Amino acid sequence: MKDKTIYDKIFDGPCEVCCKTIKKDCYGQGKCPYCGWRNCYLNEENPDKVIHPNLVSLNKAKHLHAQGKQIEPDLDDFIGALHAYSEVQFCYHGICYAVELIGFEAGNIKIQLYNTKTKEEFVYNNDDAFKNNAIVEGKLLKEIWDETTDRNWLQ
Ligand SMILES: [Zn+2]
Repeated sequence: MKDKTIYDKIFDGPCEVCCKTIKKDCYGQGKCPYCGWRNCYLNEENPDKVIHPNLVSLNKAKHLHAQGKQIEPDLDDFIGALHAYSEVQFCYHGICYAVELIGFEAGNIKIQLYNTKTKEEFVYNNDDAFKNNAIVEGKLLKEIWDETTDRNWLQ
């Protein structure tokens, strides 16, 4: 085992969210098998920011966990994740939708909602317009958000 370095080692440590003992590497990285949180030292340094590969901030995750809820993004968290990753997705009634930031070149960033089945694209001028006006299957996204699934960054 001579050529093993500290970077290969796995340690026992507390999950940042549920505090149960989990396996972590030297960067504090490890997915918690109990609450699903993806641990990383960067979370504790930026507790209010969405850090890859999570979709909510550490403080939000702790808050949800304390309430006995699953660590899932609400629409505001999802928009925060969009700004962290540039491309995110969700599914509704089995259809996946890609949400992307566009317009970087023009310096005028907008939000595009893309239906991967119909190939329809809708563009919203800013976060508020997306949050309040985005429509999915004729319904306001903000009203059906709890029924969406597979929220994630685009892989
Ligand atoms: Zn945990």
